[in-house]
Amino acid sequence: MYNVTSPKAEEFINHEEILDTLAYAQANKDNIELIDGIIEKAKLRKGLTHREAAVLLDCDIEEKNQEIYQLAEQIKKDFYGNRIVLFAPLYLSNYCINGCVYCPYHKKNTHIVRKKLTQEEIKKEVIALQDMGHKRLAIEAGEDPQNNPIEYILESIKTIYRIKHKNGAIRRVNVNIAATTVENYRKLKEAGIGTYILFQETYHKESYEKLHPTGPKHNYAYHTEAMDRAMKGGIDDVGLGVLFGLELYRYEFTGLLMHAEHLESVWGVGPHTISVPRVKHADDIDPNAFDNGIDDDTFAKIVACIRIAVPYTGIIMSTRESAECRQRALHLGVSQISGASKTSVGGYAKPEAEDKKSEQFDVSDNRTLDEIVNWLMRLGYIPSFCTACYREGRTGDRFMSLCKSRQIQNCCHPNALMTLKEYLMDYACEDTRKIGEQLILKEVQNIPKEKVRNLTLENLKAIEKGQRDFRL
Ligand code: SAM
Repeated sequence: MYNVTSPKAEEFINHEEILDTLAYAQANKDNIELIDGIIEKAKLRKGLTHREAAVLLDCDIEEKNQEIYQLAEQIKKDFYGNRIVLFAPLYLSNYCINGCVYCPYHKKNTHIVRKKLTQEEIKKEVIALQDMGHKRLAIEAGEDPQNNPIEYILESIKTIYRIKHKNGAIRRVNVNIAATTVENYRKLKEAGIGTYILFQETYHKESYEKLHPTGPKHNYAYHTEAMDRAMKGGIDDVGLGVLFGLELYRYEFTGLLMHAEHLESVWGVGPHTISVPRVKHADDIDPNAFDNGIDDDTFAKIVACIRIAVPYTGIIMSTRESAECRQRALHLGVSQISGASKTSVGGYAKPEAEDKKSEQFDVSDNRTLDEIVNWLMRLGYIPSFCTACYREGRTGDRFMSLCKSRQIQNCCHPNALMTLKEYLMDYACEDTRKIGEQLILKEVQNIPKEKVRNLTLENLKAIEKGQRDFRL
């Protein structure tokens, strides 16, 4: 499989096809018969093509839009239940040689404080994250082969996995670093990473080149083909995303789905996740300088249409979004959120004033992890710190088949409850613990297989007595 020759970027993200799709979607935005047919197909829960999904995204018949939202919510429940996975970003270094015009890490920025964590500082960050209750991180770094070479990233991953502190341990490290070589992806795989995440920023080649005027990231094809190299290097969980606001959202949405179709057809497995970040204010970046910002309603519609189009792909939403916006999007299909995030280098272990100087962008949801856990449970969700799939080797198509067979209720659901129990025992405040214990009592009854239910109950008791890290 790793010897597959994959098509070039311009073949799988075909500009003409995107334009044609957008014209088709516009022409059919109130074609009720066609829209009904697409919704019926979506109900089969096998996904939609980019053309079909683009019609739903453009649909402006209110009644049909309500059906789309309801279906997105139902599909989310069917495949992901009511679990929401929690994670935090960990910024290792903001040294960067690129010129991305929307990112304050750009090389010409002389007033941002440049910082690269030492292994000792990483340890402090990880302990601060463990003390909150985090088990899953996404490491972030600017692109700078001299300051942040792959060896530095690999060493940092090792450091993160090694630190055991009280009951804490980071059990899954996802990686969001610049596009790199097959060889480097192989090294990342060997280092035991979870998902490799890389945002396309924009699929529009001409805009891409203007938005990335200098540095290695300028190369559109190299960036766009990165996931194919990652797959070649053996990483079968990859995370896509665009930075909404840079280009027309309809173009990006279509590009994202074409990219997902390409991965599925060449590698037999679609993206593990899709992220939906929006451009935010940052050091010398004004989001209003970009003409294509989207409002909260459009954001919600995009999330719902992604949910319907790729039912087996997780959707990630960060603290760039406000609590209100997050609440709405959770219903419509988001399955993973970050919590208590710092976008500065060293921000978890350092006082606020210090960390402001090196941060990547403003966050809108500033709540603590405990407040987020509490909020999720009050909304009827199970906050999950589960990392079992990847540790049990259920990655790529093995995860997808678990999801497709809807067996996750016998697997992810108990894992979510057991990791929530650990959180309640080790980190929660009294109120959160009370709500959580009641939720677990209720939710354990929703495990369909009796054998699994009994095992989960046993493990929950063992967690209460001090044992940790059970997983199915
Ligand atoms: N250097 C890596 C790369 O080039 O992909 C990692 C990138 S960075 C640490 C993670 C992401 O932050 C970027 O891919 C970009 O989409 C996002 N980002 C950059 N500037 C932003 C801003 N002003 N507002 C919101 N997100 C931003």
